[in-house]
Amino acid sequence: MTHAPSTSTPTSSAIALVTGANKGIGLEVARQLAQHGHTVLIGARDAARGEQAAETLRAEGLDARFLPLDVTDDASVAAAASTVKAQFGRLDVLVNNAGVQLDDLPPSRVSGAVLRQTFDLNVFGVVSVTQAMLPLLRLSGAGRIVNMGSALGSLTLTSDPQNMRSGYWLLAYAASKAALNAVTVQFANELRGENILVNAADPGYVATDLTGQQGFNSVQDGALPAVRLATLPADGPTAGFYNIEGQVPW
Ligand code: NAP
Repeated sequence: MTHAPSTSTPTSSAIALVTGANKGIGLEVARQLAQHGHTVLIGARDAARGEQAAETLRAEGLDARFLPLDVTDDASVAAAASTVKAQFGRLDVLVNNAGVQLDDLPPSRVSGAVLRQTFDLNVFGVVSVTQAMLPLLRLSGAGRIVNMGSALGSLTLTSDPQNMRSGYWLLAYAASKAALNAVTVQFANELRGENILVNAADPGYVATDLTGQQGFNSVQDGALPAVRLATLPADGPTAGFYNIEGQVPW
């Protein structure tokens, strides 16, 4: 059945980590989670950009702190997990948002370097951060993991010649987001029965630096599916893929 996930009552003490939160959709997800009463950790690979984003949210009266985190660097991921453990002892919400879109050629001409760089961040980075944070999410008692997917990772939508999404050359990006969908389901299946819900969010086409500031949706709307999935009640769905309207086909 197609249904949009509902949002639970805000939990004042929840600790949420958003990767790639210094700008774009990630910053807005962090803002909206903080508005729910969460303490939000602004994961960012650049200290100046991360500190500035956290300061922007604090100036809005929100509880936001910069957490150094390059999701493609194992040492950085391990250090971030140690910091969260030392400062908070647990993690309630992980939003794997950091992502990149590097394609600008037809599939027949995409380089291995572009494929590897894209998968490093969009897929392997997500697995690495999730594995590192899982012990802390298990201590939450109600962990939520949200992976920032894309409708361009939907094989159902992109294989339909009537769908506008079949008209883009995005071998590396689309394949990485399709792989991310599989990653989402794999973790969801492992964590069923542990009160950790794992889902993928599709923000829609949002004007950010990733899209050259082109898009149909505002960052506010683009953040909503992830925020809803990050604040699901205990009986909420897992192993699903959602946009602002409801379920997205895989
Ligand atoms: P964006 O504005 O370009 O933001 C990307 C974020 O990822 C930035 O904070 C960037 O940090 C960070 N990042 C890049 N490499 C990183 C690394 N190695 N470690 C940690 N963070 C890193 O893009 P966006 O549109 O908000 O995209 C956010 C997510 O939404 C992505 O996963 C994207 O695929 C997904 N998405 C976007 C759209 C859309 O229409 N915009 C549609 C579907 C899905 P720096 O500033 O340091 O580079």
